[in-house]
Amino acid sequence: MTTVVKQERLVAINPTRSCAPIGAMLSTFGIHGAITINHGSQGCATYPRHQMARHFREPVEVATTSLTEKTTVYGGKENLLAALKNIWDRFHPTMITVCSTCLSETIGDDIPGIIEEFQDKHPEIDIPILSVRTPSYIGTHITGFDNFLKELATRIPARRKKGDSNGKINLIPGWVNPGDLRELRDILREMDVAATFLTDYADTLDGGYYNPRPHVLQGGTALAEVQDSSRALATIALQKHIGGEAAKVYKRKHNVPAHILPMPIGLANTDKFLETVAEVTGKPIPESLQVERARLLDAIVDTHIFNTGLKVGIFGDPDIVYGMVRLVAEMGMVPRYAVTATDSKAWGEDMAALAEELGLDNLDVVYRSDLYELHKRMKEDPVDVVIGHSKGKFLADAEKIPLVRVGFPVEDRFGYHRRAIVGYEGAIYLVDEITNLLLAQRGNVVSNTLLAHELNETPDPAGGGCGQCGGG
Ligand code: SF4
Repeated sequence: MTTVVKQERLVAINPTRSCAPIGAMLSTFGIHGAITINHGSQGCATYPRHQMARHFREPVEVATTSLTEKTTVYGGKENLLAALKNIWDRFHPTMITVCSTCLSETIGDDIPGIIEEFQDKHPEIDIPILSVRTPSYIGTHITGFDNFLKELATRIPARRKKGDSNGKINLIPGWVNPGDLRELRDILREMDVAATFLTDYADTLDGGYYNPRPHVLQGGTALAEVQDSSRALATIALQKHIGGEAAKVYKRKHNVPAHILPMPIGLANTDKFLETVAEVTGKPIPESLQVERARLLDAIVDTHIFNTGLKVGIFGDPDIVYGMVRLVAEMGMVPRYAVTATDSKAWGEDMAALAEELGLDNLDVVYRSDLYELHKRMKEDPVDVVIGHSKGKFLADAEKIPLVRVGFPVEDRFGYHRRAIVGYEGAIYLVDEITNLLLAQRGNVVSNTLLAHELNETPDPAGGGCGQCGGG
């Protein structure tokens, strides 16, 4: 039976979440020339910078208003006014995002009011300055990212004239890796579809090495493109919890149709994405993508003898978990646990509906949860493999099962941020990765037969026929 529960324990033990400003900071990196000011103590900028630098392996620049004991008592207005001026003088950014933090929200600083005062004082600084609410006690990195996108969609796009269209789609990928963004670009290029990415940090957070380092990072969606995004054919959000609400803002404010899809992980979810793009644009799905789809099916067929029936525990961001549950079910595996830190009853209901659709009869869905909870459940009913980010290493090691690294942060391996998990190509990568990690853990494959490590069996080339092909 599928069970859906909200974890009621008041303390999180080994949380899977990051803090809220990091989401808004990440998405700001996807706007060309934009910069974030974190209105809080220095640690509120340092922690997200470290998290991002360890995952993306890039220096991450974020400004801070460096609140101290004095400003905590008397308010941080003067610090924010000075930070806005300093950032303008030093960087001349195209846009500034001001993130609040636990501290500045608790003080009660009126950030939109301070920004307004700054803009009144400096009419010559004619750039958008967004205020995004990101205290971590209202949510996670997911909330921060989503709140940024809502603010962007509300503030930046220009008013649309009736019937006006730029012939493009707005694509909101959500929290993905640079590798995913490149895969999405490739898919749309194959389909001959022009898109405005909201937003695109593939090149700013996975750029090349240049000497001297450019003052403004290469890449990111141009602000002019975002301003023009109100004239799009449609908005497609690929994560319900990050960008779904922004897609609705486009619909409400500019009458741009909204399509909120599951993250295109696996076969059926990628089908849905391509079919939606084809429907919105009138462009057919080209043969090259149909070939990729057939190769994914082939990869699933090739590996099913090793994977079918194995049990899986999955944790992480809600949209990733949703997509991964479907993919492993497509591979013939049995999703046993689906765990997220996000406090979303709607996600729990979506997971229950997915379990019913897939015919899963023993899936535990837990939201507002942590790794302690997942580990506790895994001890009662073990699984063969766990899927999630690097923080799952300790429970995977304790249970002597492989960890398939997916999500954020992946800080104990190199190159994962460059790989895609979306699209048919991304799914082929995941099928191979899951299968290979399981094989390495469980035994040796000889002549397509798994010889489990525990059996201590090794093939005997001298006995039972030809040592080359295994035949009699
Ligand atoms: S105080 Fe809040 S905003 Fe600052 S680092 Fe901690 S969780 Fe993040």
